[in-house]
Amino acid sequence: MEETYDLAIVGGGPGGYVAAIRAAQLGARVALIERERVGGVCLNHGCIPTKTLIASAERLHAAQEAGRFGILGCENARPDWARIQQRKAEVVETLVSGVERLLRDHRVAIFPGNARLEEPHTVHVSPPSGGEETVLRAGQVILATGSEPSPLPVPGADLPGVLDSRELLELPTLPGSLVVIGAGVIGMEMAVLFRWLGAQVTVLEMLPNILPLVEPELARRFAAIVRQQGIALQTEARVTAIRQEEDGRLAVLYEGKRGPETAWGERVLVATGRRPSDGGLALERLGIARQGRAIAVNEYLETSVQGVWAIGDCTGGALLAHRASYHGEVAAENALGQRRAVDERAIPYAVYTWPEIAGVGWTIDQARAAGRPAAEARFPFAANGRAQTLGETAGQVRLVYEPKEGTVLGVHLLGPHASELVAEATLAVQARLKVQDLAEAVHAHPTLSEALMEAAKAAARGEAIHVRKA
Ligand code: NAD
Repeated sequence: MEETYDLAIVGGGPGGYVAAIRAAQLGARVALIERERVGGVCLNHGCIPTKTLIASAERLHAAQEAGRFGILGCENARPDWARIQQRKAEVVETLVSGVERLLRDHRVAIFPGNARLEEPHTVHVSPPSGGEETVLRAGQVILATGSEPSPLPVPGADLPGVLDSRELLELPTLPGSLVVIGAGVIGMEMAVLFRWLGAQVTVLEMLPNILPLVEPELARRFAAIVRQQGIALQTEARVTAIRQEEDGRLAVLYEGKRGPETAWGERVLVATGRRPSDGGLALERLGIARQGRAIAVNEYLETSVQGVWAIGDCTGGALLAHRASYHGEVAAENALGQRRAVDERAIPYAVYTWPEIAGVGWTIDQARAAGRPAAEARFPFAANGRAQTLGETAGQVRLVYEPKEGTVLGVHLLGPHASELVAEATLAVQARLKVQDLAEAVHAHPTLSEALMEAAKAAARGEAIHVRKA
């Protein structure tokens, strides 16, 4: 069977499905090829399942802390893993079927199966259950093939019980103990989640600092907080091997600060990074250039072959779902004749730990390294009324700005609901707002967002309002 489309998109994650909807809005006939269900790792195996489990862990933590808030009788709260998993499956199903519905509403043709590119604008799709291939001819092609976990090259990494994040999220029983290898975003989100659900958690990180994505001072402060939560966090720990013990536990052998050491756990999570994936498309044959493992693209997201575009994780850079969706819109528009360059100055990050961490734009060190004059203003959540009412006062706002004009260059937050607060900061960086703009905008009281306004007042006038005199 052969069909013709204006645009064929390989991969239905947050990059590919958003590109499909945007292209359909612009009037294109669109085919979307996906071997699993649409939504990609984010909806099916990553962001959404994790955040759903975290919501359960937060309920448990709230119950355990209830006495401090004057609520009695919650001391015996405990997790029901089967029910937690069921709720996760329900949330994922709601969102994935919602995306399928959106695609149908937009008349996007979904082809389940594996894509193969024989030539740049001809996509062969083999259905997962076998059977006849469909050949799709498309004037434009968008590659949205995502990323995959980086393997851990040590003996024992293939033992049963050594898991990647997708496998960990699907465990049928809650582990009593967990060793996490890698203190990046996945490692720390999982460490906090499973600690809150009651597991003994050890985190082993090769580098001296954790969370490479995060502003370094906030990452340092966060490391101290997670240690107080009872997570055994070891930095400068180089894993050398994993071994199965006779008692069923896994032993993770590592070279620590004091020489060879071992951490034990029922399960081991490998969270040592993800890498771009080309979905097995053998792109070299087509002359599609790469940069390392990533598919090389120009500022319009076009590959080295005209009319073939690539978006999101498969292009390397920050592997973030919202960046992929942004790319998806830009590539769809460009594929259909517009000319919009990507602008990555204001791609936020958000880490769903306790407290949360989020940020956008430059850190003070990055601004200085780029040769920009930069200053930093800070405001602690302990001085914010809403944070006090919530009983969540750890953390601070760090606002980086250009001192002469006051242009906001970056904002980094450690504190309650940082993942939501970063939206205002993202607008400020994207729109090149000045610290005066943030300082003079009236923020509802009492809200956590006042902390950003206060940091902006400190930047604009040298002083916040709610700050004690030395
Ligand atoms: P990462 O790159 O963020 O962190 C990996 C960490 O593992 C690093 O700190 C690294 O030094 C460490 N490491 C590497 N090899 C090691 C070894 N042999 N022993 C010990 N430590 C080792 O990767 P990740 O946490 O796996 O996440 C993968 C990608 O997914 C990232 O790009 C991340 O941004 C993205 N992601 C984002 C979110 C979010 O935004 N909330 C959530 C999950 C994942």
